[in-house]
Amino acid sequence: MPIYDYLCHECGHEFEGLVRKEIEITDCPSCHGNDLERLLSMPSVHSEARKERSMRAARKRDKIQATEREYTQRQYELNHDD
Ligand SMILES: [Zn+2]
Repeated sequence: MPIYDYLCHECGHEFEGLVRKEIEITDCPSCHGNDLERLLSMPSVHSEARKERSMRAARKRDKIQATEREYTQRQYELNHDD
């Protein structure tokens, strides 16, 4: 679910809003004004950061699996070295 940053033109309050199924947030949590602007520059920053984090997690996972595979292979070779 995309998280967007909103700016309320009525009170100047900036907040993050989760947009569920394309339903826009229409009122400010601070003053309940309806003059909101969705700041379009932020979602890409958020998703880039998320992508970077998940890629790092995936790489770490791959490394662990590779190590386990290597270990299993080595055990197999040791046990069948005749
Ligand atoms: Zn406001």
